[in-house]
Amino acid sequence: MPADDARAQARRHSTVLKGHGRRGVLPRRPPRQRRASDPTESTGPSLEDGLGEARVFDAMTVDLDRGLPEGMAILVVLPVRSPGGEWGFRMRGHCCCGAQQDFPAYDRPDIALAKLVAKGGKAPSEVLATMRSWSSRRRELTRWLDDRRCAHGDSLELVIWDETGYGIPWELFWLSPQPGSGRRAGWLGGVVTVTRWLSICTDWPVVRDYWSAHECAGPVASYVADDMRHDDRLLEQFSLEPLAGIPALPKALASGGPLGMVYLACHGTFGSDLSTCELDKVKLLLLHPERFDRLMTAATFVFLNACHSGRLIAERGVFADPGQSGFSEVFLRSGAAGVLATSGEIGDEEAHQMADQLLAVLRDRPTTPVAVALRELRAEIAQVTPMDLLGIEGLEEQKQLLPLLYRFMYVYYGSPRTVVALTPRGGP
Ligand SMILES: [Zn+2]
Repeated sequence: MPADDARAQARRHSTVLKGHGRRGVLPRRPPRQRRASDPTESTGPSLEDGLGEARVFDAMTVDLDRGLPEGMAILVVLPVRSPGGEWGFRMRGHCCCGAQQDFPAYDRPDIALAKLVAKGGKAPSEVLATMRSWSSRRRELTRWLDDRRCAHGDSLELVIWDETGYGIPWELFWLSPQPGSGRRAGWLGGVVTVTRWLSICTDWPVVRDYWSAHECAGPVASYVADDMRHDDRLLEQFSLEPLAGIPALPKALASGGPLGMVYLACHGTFGSDLSTCELDKVKLLLLHPERFDRLMTAATFVFLNACHSGRLIAERGVFADPGQSGFSEVFLRSGAAGVLATSGEIGDEEAHQMADQLLAVLRDRPTTPVAVALRELRAEIAQVTPMDLLGIEGLEEQKQLLPLLYRFMYVYYGSPRTVVALTPRGGP
């Protein structure tokens, strides 16, 4: 895109957001104590200051009163501190039909799946029981979610905009329906179409929105690490552009034709700062400042099939910046229309199966949104009921629950309506 076009787009974008800001109902930051170490304190210019070009999609300032498409609801989750200094979170729910709700403050939970499912964590049946138990105590949220299901049925699309960095596994929130309603109980991510969103700070507003039906059409650019070569077979069915490795990403994604998907299968690690998070041994610190301009010209779906690839760092670090950082955020900031990544350590075989099943849906049903496909893939594996959990004994039975947990570790950032139409091998 020529520089002039980019500037014109930047202006358009900021005007749209500012215009909405004036009309209104903002998800205000809940009152709380401010401290220098507060990881969410915003210090830069905000859209409300009229300097909005530098800041796109901020949970604190973006107006939701623009209205959401029919069937879409959003849940904004913000970190707060109690007067005693304890961290917690508050939420505001907003639905297409105008229903808005503020929730009471809850304490910070210690339920990140990366920790619960890791070595030394809980047995799988206990992880599921923990999530069910935690969910049942968030009774206001349980009721709001059930109201949304009542209002919009199966077409409900829920965007969870979580700024806390607490690693709350929202896809495993237990839905308890109103007795006698006929709605079934289940894990949120297997019953409702759920996506994630986050505040994205960027110098140029090329970020795609979280509510449109973006269409990702074209070939696949892929990198598969040597010990994951079994994924090659899955990709053979599509028009392929091989990537030499993670260090080659900036060059390969700097310019070129539209891509339907970027697929990366490799190892990942997570740490407390940009230098200790790695994708195939490349530090997030080195990728973080990159911008992949090729994702700006046409919508692209990004699948980071690596451990911890979707986790976010919410610490202010050496730059004292607000917001969250992560590999998924780098791609969204470049204009990706959706990023599927993981919130923990995934078994190699499960990662392969997930790719196998998702790519089959994308190939056979290109008009099915990615988020709907993910809901189906989770539902398929989440047949176990709370009653079953009580009877689970022994290591072997516990192991059989692992695929369920792994599947719910996949988190999807982007619009619930994004669709992916990949060019078949030898295709146009
Ligand atoms: Zn609604």
